[in-house]
Amino acid sequence: MPTTTSSVWSLDNPIRTGAPLAGNTRYDVGVIGGGIAGLTTAYLLACEGKSVVVLDAKPAVAGGETEFTTAHLAWVIDDRFARVALIRGDETARLAAKSHLTAIDLIEEIIKRENIACDFRRTDGYLFPGTDGNDIIRDEVVTLTRLGLIFERVDHVPFPAVATGPALRFPDNGQFHPLKYLSDIAGLIRKKGGVIHTDTQVVKVENGSPCVAHTKLGHTVTAGAIVIATNTPFDAGPSLHFKLAAYVTYAIALEVPAGHVSPALFWDTEDPYHYVRTAHGTDAEFLIVGGEDHKTGQAQDQQERWERLEAWARKRFPESGPARHHWSGQVFETPDGLGLIGRAPGFRDNLYVITGDSGMGMTHGTLGARLVSDLILGRTNEFAGVYSPSRWMPGALKTLLEENANLAAQYGDWLTGGEVKSASEIPNGHGAIIRHGLSKSAVYKDDKGQVHEMSAVCPHLGGIVQWNPGEKSWDCPCHGSRFSCKGDVQHGPAVEGLKAIEKT
Ligand SMILES: Cc1cc2nc3c(=O)[nH]c(=O)nc-3n(C[C@H](O)[C@H](O)[C@H](O)COP(=O)(O)OP(=O)(O)OC[C@H]3O[C@@H](n4cnc5c(N)ncnc54)[C@H](O)[C@@H]3O)c2cc1C
Repeated sequence: MPTTTSSVWSLDNPIRTGAPLAGNTRYDVGVIGGGIAGLTTAYLLACEGKSVVVLDAKPAVAGGETEFTTAHLAWVIDDRFARVALIRGDETARLAAKSHLTAIDLIEEIIKRENIACDFRRTDGYLFPGTDGNDIIRDEVVTLTRLGLIFERVDHVPFPAVATGPALRFPDNGQFHPLKYLSDIAGLIRKKGGVIHTDTQVVKVENGSPCVAHTKLGHTVTAGAIVIATNTPFDAGPSLHFKLAAYVTYAIALEVPAGHVSPALFWDTEDPYHYVRTAHGTDAEFLIVGGEDHKTGQAQDQQERWERLEAWARKRFPESGPARHHWSGQVFETPDGLGLIGRAPGFRDNLYVITGDSGMGMTHGTLGARLVSDLILGRTNEFAGVYSPSRWMPGALKTLLEENANLAAQYGDWLTGGEVKSASEIPNGHGAIIRHGLSKSAVYKDDKGQVHEMSAVCPHLGGIVQWNPGEKSWDCPCHGSRFSCKGDVQHGPAVEGLKAIEKT
């Protein structure tokens, strides 16, 4: 495995970058965040003649979690239909399936209309049993049959080496190269009169009519509507954070002989589950395998997790070659397994959010873009109630309470000791938490031995960050904010970096 992490999709394309915002401007719609959710929203609204601007904190759009995806385009709900139907009822479970199917259709329609070369193809999806998974498969069959969704029972998945027992085949899923797709979408936004500013972090949004987005450098965008598509919202009311739980998920890409594995999506019934697909690289075909999820900031065995994924893959695909890429990223789970898309809670009439991807952010971001665009355009959308961010989740109360108990427990880190007593115990290239009296420092020692000391307190809501040795980042276990080894924000909801501690 290479020593540093990299996504299999990394793609340098100047079309992904735009000049930073350098003044005060006015548009019909401001979109904050240029991942699949934000770019698709801007594209759809630009197609309707709206003037749109996309503001993204990173140097290039599609450089957030979208760059770290495995890009299954699935309509089969990750949390499984039996659970969604139990919590939200049959009609909502049926609509959830339809919404993700519609999202795959929309991606295909855009690709055909705009002639985008992004390796898109329709594929089957297979759910196969992991250890003790046969009961799960049986339950799912009962629900799928009751809901009238299209599936087929098969004796085993089409793996070359391992027949894992009865599985379910779902038609009409898909796969693509997300960065090729979104690079073209960025170009199309501009072609239709839209504007993209990168290196432009937004730190505050004022709701109203119009709304105003304020950037870190003191500029503003005034717009009739603002869409916060920043993966997890940094300024859309505190209530949303009680419904969002941040998880890290891992992926590896192994070289495989061309045509060795059927182009299909595979995932098993384990918790966390494994997911598999193939993809064309520039010089090889890859088997992409993901899984090993855990709550953000609550594990430090990243290397072992990638190794377990590799061992799992080699057992089932023994002809696999070297692991050329390994990486990780975040997904945001909701208590009922469905996203939070629509008007921000708390009477913020012109402020919209797309969040809570529930591990299905490619389709979720796309259906979120369609839904939010419809709301802005004053159109009805049959999925609005399914995804309303203000919805109550009585059926998911147990999960909601468990996740929030876990969140509360993280604040106990204020009382524990440090991981090491002094920086001299930290090897070069690593970080650790050190306690100084009542406070805690996040201390990183770079490859040359220089020590960088910061407050360990997450500026979002005061969690104590944890060192992530796999990605060399500081991760907050409370709401999923992530910071570089030197404390810069890499992922919200925090909008400020870790506070540097000057040594006197
Ligand atoms: C390893 C892995 C595998 C996955 N596999 C799949 C899969 O197979 N299928 C699937 O459907 N989903 C998958 N997902 C989930 C999916 O990749 C994500 O949910 C999706 O990419 C999120 O898109 P987004 O547009 O919401 O967020 P992002 O892509 O993260 O975009 C948000 C953007 O907002 C910007 N931003 C953040 N804060 C600010 C701010 N304050 N001001 C300005 N800009 C800001 C960021 O720079 C970023 O560019 C996977 C995720 C991971 C990590």
